[in-house]
Amino acid sequence: MSEKVTCLIIGSGPAGYTAAIYAARAGLKPVLYQGSQPGGQLTITNDVENYPGYPAGIMGPQMMMDFKKQAERFGTSIRDGNIVKVEFTSSPFQLWVEDGKVIKAETVIIATGASAMWLGLESEQRLNGKGVSACAVCDGFFFRGMEVAIVGGGDTACEEATYLAKLCSKVHMLVRRDEMRASTIMQERVKNTKNIEIHWNSDTEEILGKDEVEGVRIANHKTGKKTELKIKGFFVAIGHKPNTSIFKGILEMDSNGYIITKKGTSHTNIEGVFACGDAQDHVYRQAITAAGTGCMAALDAERFLISKT
Ligand code: FAD
Ligand code: NAP
Repeated sequence: MSEKVTCLIIGSGPAGYTAAIYAARAGLKPVLYQGSQPGGQLTITNDVENYPGYPAGIMGPQMMMDFKKQAERFGTSIRDGNIVKVEFTSSPFQLWVEDGKVIKAETVIIATGASAMWLGLESEQRLNGKGVSACAVCDGFFFRGMEVAIVGGGDTACEEATYLAKLCSKVHMLVRRDEMRASTIMQERVKNTKNIEIHWNSDTEEILGKDEVEGVRIANHKTGKKTELKIKGFFVAIGHKPNTSIFKGILEMDSNGYIITKKGTSHTNIEGVFACGDAQDHVYRQAITAAGTGCMAALDAERFLISKT
């Protein structure tokens, strides 16, 4: 079972769909594999207020439906499934879909994004899905009227804490330093929300509970004080890691697994393979920058194909 394509796009976040729109309009007949999170990270958030063109803001899942429709409008073939293995040593490149199908592609655009990181505690793993979650928008509803905690000090933690505060009686925000990494506006929202209590310099020692979350023990590493908070939900919002493991040892990456692209382009170290979005960006990690680099990848792929004729 194999198929030959001009342009294969891996991933269906803002980067993948934007690459698809440009590649389809350039006549490359792109095939796009959505992976296990169709629509990407924005499908687990609510309001997106900073994407230009939506003056009143838009819900993340709706925005990604719009991206998909626009990519389909110009003829992108959008498919379910993950790419599980790649072979980039000769052209056309070979890529294996999880159902065993082999795709032979003249160009590949990698837009595999990033996934949530975990603290690495035994109790976090044991109670995952039993009160521990990495997605407030998905699971916050189950804790309405209850006390919860969220760990992290970035934009995600702030956004999710504010979201949870609307549902829950109280939100404990556990920040490991004495300042947050989040943008000023997001921090202000947290600080101005009455039922969010920020615990600075706090480390999570253990999530308490046998079969479900009943509390969390935190330690202030400046004072040495340990506190047990009675909570029902524990949310982890400490960042993401790039979904690039299938390219390990094949494409050049930094020490955290982000694909390295040539400055100012989407070119990887292999000609004809391009990377865009959060899979290659540990600095900006925004929908608009993912979309922008998706555009770059499609234009780079088109120019690469022209240069070969
Ligand atoms: P992603 O959105 O991560 O999508 C990656 C895609 O690749 C997914 O479709 C996945 O299924 C697919 N994939 C992965 N591996 C494979 C594989 N092996 N085979 C096939 N497919 C694969 N940014 C903003 O600008 N504004 C916001 O308000 C905002 N809010 C956010 C809220 C939250 C909770 C989070 C987590 C992020 C938020 N961001 C926001 C950041 C934004 O979501 C990301 O920067 C953006 O989604 C990155 O786009 P991407 O296309 O690179 O990857
Ligand atoms: P992030 O910016 O990497 O922040 C991660 C946070 O978690 C930091 O505060 C970090 O602390 C903390 N942390 C990391 N490991 C930890 C651990 N083991 N224990 C406790 N705390 C830990 O990640 P993010 O918040 O997910 O944001 C990712 C990107 O998406 C950013 O570019 C962000 O701007 C964007 N985003 C934007 C919006 C928006 O604009 N509306 C919303 C969400 C996300 P340190 O600071 O001490 O390292």
